[in-house]
Amino acid sequence: MSRILLAGGRIIDPASGRDEVADLLIQGDRIAAIGPAGSLGPADRTIDCRRRLVVPGLIDLHVHLREPPAQTAEELPETIASGAAAAVAGGFTTVCAMPNTRPPIDTPQAVRYYIKRGREAGLARVLPVGCQTAGRAGRKPADLAAMQAAGAVAFSDDGSDVADPKVFEDVLREAARLGAPAFCHCEDAELAAGGAINDGPLAMVLGLPGNPPEAEEAAVQRACDAAARTGCRVHICHVSTEGAVEIVRRAKAGGAPVTAEAAPHHLALTEESLAGRDTVFKVSPPLRCGHDVDAVLEGVRDGAIDCLATDHAPHSAKAKRRPLAEAPAGMIGLESALPVYAKALIETGLLTWPQLVARLTINPARILGVDLGRIAVGATADVAVIDPEVAWRIEPTHFASRARNCPFAGWDIRGRAVTTIVGGRVVYQQEI
Ligand SMILES: [Zn+2]
Repeated sequence: MSRILLAGGRIIDPASGRDEVADLLIQGDRIAAIGPAGSLGPADRTIDCRRRLVVPGLIDLHVHLREPPAQTAEELPETIASGAAAAVAGGFTTVCAMPNTRPPIDTPQAVRYYIKRGREAGLARVLPVGCQTAGRAGRKPADLAAMQAAGAVAFSDDGSDVADPKVFEDVLREAARLGAPAFCHCEDAELAAGGAINDGPLAMVLGLPGNPPEAEEAAVQRACDAAARTGCRVHICHVSTEGAVEIVRRAKAGGAPVTAEAAPHHLALTEESLAGRDTVFKVSPPLRCGHDVDAVLEGVRDGAIDCLATDHAPHSAKAKRRPLAEAPAGMIGLESALPVYAKALIETGLLTWPQLVARLTINPARILGVDLGRIAVGATADVAVIDPEVAWRIEPTHFASRARNCPFAGWDIRGRAVTTIVGGRVVYQQEI
């Protein structure tokens, strides 16, 4: 069995509260020992981690890998393999792949395809999310039990809501019976009315249809109420408005089994980014106003929002060249997320590194109910080594992702993953 020694790093494990400078030994696919510098004996490979953070591999509950189940993928803006490469370059060792591919992931065969292709890539763990409804059409529940048996870890019709209340209720009751979380993209389609950007001051200036905060908030309220009624663990995707944060906070206080995530762009950008009509800033839910960003940041700080998730959404340059009203919504995030989180949450003093790491590791692991996201003797050796100080410029042309639609291109930023280890294998090492 190979022995890898991570020497002299600051080991942070939010699950246990460990935060100390020490050596960490990986043997095979497990963490074998943690001890004082120089105490763990010889290794086949030693990685100098001084002045670096050694943390559980990051977990992203929300990415889009675009590859359709069992179909040729050449023209796509991302594949399972390229998305998994982007993940490990960003420090992520586990990603949940959303099912709104074409065709969608709504059968056990499609789930198995995703698992197989993820294993073949041999990079980040790719955990498929199955559709909530057949064909993601919203008319009848998909076969959740069969997809779970095939390996689906959660269910979502991400990209849209399940509008029909009876179908939505049936989906949540079945997910509750299976003990699986439902990942809900909360957007009331009628209220959203096809809006291209936030229904704020800028929509008026640009003469574009707006998507109002109420469209998100009505749907978040409905999902939280349904969670309380059905007992289903409802996870609210990409919370973006002040009102939505407050609804989630109240639902949790009332005991509803609700969790929530926020995306990097909703922590770091406002609708004003769209003043130049650059479609790279078009996303769903849309970039909101400054008070919304402040409320989402506060939600992440006080725990109303449990975890961070990129909503990595690759699109081709061609698709993004269409006019703002018609261009697809979505931005990539896996390779820029960590420094953006650090800038929005650590440099501002809202969170410490251990608190940020919790929101990227053990918190999402608990939402999934998987035994990952920890650094402990005997635990799976999924580890990210982070240089918290290194300054660099975000240049999407260097990304492992096939897509380039990154809203943070050109940002001078601080902090990045330098080594990523999955199951005891070094799958990413930043070239120095
Ligand atoms: Zn979504």
